[in-house]
Amino acid sequence: MIDLRSDTVTLPTPAMREAMAHAPVGDDVYHEDPTVLALEARAAEILGKEDAVYVPTGTMSNQIALRAHTEPGDMAIMDASAHMAINEGGAAAALSGVTIARMAGRAGIFGAHDVEGALEVPHPFNPPNHSPRPRVVCVENTHNSGGGTIWSLETLSAVAETAGSHGMTLHMDGARLWHAAAASGVPERAFAERFDTVSVCFSKGLGAPVGSALVGSRTLITRARRFKQMYGGGFRQAGVIAAGALYALEHHRERLGEDVANARAFAEALAETDGIEVDLATVQTNIVRFDVTSMEAGDFVDGCHDRGVHMLPGGRHGVRAVMHLGIERADVEVAVGVVREVLAGA
Ligand SMILES: *Cc1c(COP(=O)(O)O)cnc(C)c1O
Repeated sequence: MIDLRSDTVTLPTPAMREAMAHAPVGDDVYHEDPTVLALEARAAEILGKEDAVYVPTGTMSNQIALRAHTEPGDMAIMDASAHMAINEGGAAAALSGVTIARMAGRAGIFGAHDVEGALEVPHPFNPPNHSPRPRVVCVENTHNSGGGTIWSLETLSAVAETAGSHGMTLHMDGARLWHAAAASGVPERAFAERFDTVSVCFSKGLGAPVGSALVGSRTLITRARRFKQMYGGGFRQAGVIAAGALYALEHHRERLGEDVANARAFAEALAETDGIEVDLATVQTNIVRFDVTSMEAGDFVDGCHDRGVHMLPGGRHGVRAVMHLGIERADVEVAVGVVREVLAGA
């Protein structure tokens, strides 16, 4: 099976399992797991921040960040199709008591003027305590729903400027920030620079079995650790899995360019296939989003699955394919053949 549904399907390599088997461990709640501490220090270093906290999932990482940035009644500004807005079970409302102002981004990317547009214009008849307090701007880089699109440093900096001028803080959901760095050549820490907190995933394209980290200032991460514990994320001898994440960080970042090239090759072949529409401009990293125009996405992915290629339907005609550690160029070629067979009704 060639599984292109997500880069979360990656399996630990033998060398990664070896590192996990021999990892020194301790109690994470007591802040005594040496492997967790080493992973946190390394993540903070790569992202250019003071501190980091290792958590079980990217969702928990985003949500402890949101909770740390806000108080109930506040408003978070983000793209309408952000993972934090649509894929985290309504956690912003449930756990932080925060409303979301949903920006209509372009392939997930919005600008400073969009942020301005979400804010009330002050007037004596429209006092600031009337509307929810705009508190944090959240940016997803790369943007999953947008097709794995990368935010430019210019746009990030303009949004950061506007957020700052209105007293708002900044959070980046960088689940795939590694891919933004690999594809653009801009180091992760440059993308992270203007942001108070950044969440990164080890369990996606990096290929580790479990975990994410939230990085930021010591003050904010200390506050976030309180919410990690509150949400049930204090996970004892977590060094066993942190070792997989640390291994991935040191050994798998450098190969992400292969995934970007494979996504490009797949998208270009799809663009030449009748019955498929793909916007090549949005194919910037390891994700390919395309529309099947001649049949329902559900039937299409079922047909592909029967022939050994697994992809994710989204909506009536949308399909997502993601490249990762387990996929080689030969697999991409097989997948293209399967797509064409299914569309031809063979
Ligand atoms: C996968 C993902 C997350 C959350 O990660 P989980 O570990 O699945 O909770 C957050 N943001 C984005 C953009 C993602 O793709």
